[in-house]
Amino acid sequence: MQTQFFAHLRCRECGRLYPKEAIHVCEWDFGPLEAIYDYEAIRRHVSRKRIESRAPTMWRYREFLPLEGEPSVGTQVGFTPLVRSERLAKALGVREAYVKNDTVNYPTLSFKDRVVAISLSRAKEMGFTTVACASTGNLANSVAANAASAGLESYVLIPSDLEASKVLGSLVYGTRVVGIRGPYDKVNRLCSEIAGKYQWAFVNVNLRPYYAEGSKTMGFEIAEQLGWRLPAHTVIPMASGSLLTKIAKSYQEMIDTELVEKAPFAIYGAQATGCNPISDAFRKGTELVQPVPKPQTIAKSLAIGTPADGYYAIQTMRKSGGAAEDASDEELLEGIRLLAETTGIFAETAGGVTVACARKLIASGKIPKDGTVVLCITGHGLKTAEVLTGVLAPPRVIEPSLREFDRLVSSDLAHASIPAKMET
Ligand SMILES: *Cc1c(COP(=O)(O)O)cnc(C)c1O
Repeated sequence: MQTQFFAHLRCRECGRLYPKEAIHVCEWDFGPLEAIYDYEAIRRHVSRKRIESRAPTMWRYREFLPLEGEPSVGTQVGFTPLVRSERLAKALGVREAYVKNDTVNYPTLSFKDRVVAISLSRAKEMGFTTVACASTGNLANSVAANAASAGLESYVLIPSDLEASKVLGSLVYGTRVVGIRGPYDKVNRLCSEIAGKYQWAFVNVNLRPYYAEGSKTMGFEIAEQLGWRLPAHTVIPMASGSLLTKIAKSYQEMIDTELVEKAPFAIYGAQATGCNPISDAFRKGTELVQPVPKPQTIAKSLAIGTPADGYYAIQTMRKSGGAAEDASDEELLEGIRLLAETTGIFAETAGGVTVACARKLIASGKIPKDGTVVLCITGHGLKTAEVLTGVLAPPRVIEPSLREFDRLVSSDLAHASIPAKMET
């Protein structure tokens, strides 16, 4: 059923066509390969009604995903809530704000479940029995969990200094977790060497063309959940820059297949200041991304010093009329708290980066104050909870006595700390 839509792989640089195999770079110019579809056939086949009649998962957009048969891994992933928040809008100083809440994605609480669902489904389809990845944490969690449920062998390679919860969140599934001494770039380079030697499906190396397409589903969902309309402003965290380019691609595909009306959509990228190769290049007005050899930020999930899709992310932001921004560790911690206090959503460090950058983009007028903005919140706060140690005041401890509790409340009232003290 899928075959007629997913056509082949194509080099982004020279346009040479490639068969649908476990390959990711062009032999001629080393350009990245990308999945290509028969959009005319999709346009004739899909409709809002047809999509709406399907289960609320990312697979309701399966015509736009590079699979030949039916999905076999991660069949429950996606269709996370899009939450409108007046309190967040007020705090950010913008007319309308939405959160695309992938902190509750299934099964591992980050947007990476989307890319893993497609790449492991494709890996099975191609006959692989061992899957692997290079990861800043969330991808490792999702590969480990989904491989476990699918009965695939797995190796996940991570920088050895990741957050405790992200390490545990891979180990628990019985996967083989390998910590590498060094930053993500070294992990990734080693994975390329391993992929050349072992016949495994590396989801973000030789399966990258399939993997990357999974990110589009976040964009499809945003537009459908807005009532089949594109948001004018979307703020997206960037590690390799892939998610950002794919959300833009999803919006364009929806226009091309007449699922939404043509409308301008500006795309904004968010990074941590301690690892900002993409936002730095954007600001300097160049597309030449200078690697950051030693990332220094608590936003470890975004700490990729040599971002594979940095160049395309910059082009996407520029062409769409968007911009890039970055946020310091202090600002991202404030971002985490601001989101939690206004929406009840507890995001990991990458979410704090997104909120902090959105706030700066609005304050500087790059996102207009009378606009509608969607914030892509990509991972759950419990995975990086340790960054809040010493940031949040500990609970006050009292004896189990009503008198002591009364005293506590009176002191709260005296300090008037009960009414919201939200700044804008
Ligand atoms: C991987 C990741 C991203 C962005 O990844 P890209 O490499 O830019 O696609 C964003 N947020 C979180 C939490 C992630 O784990």
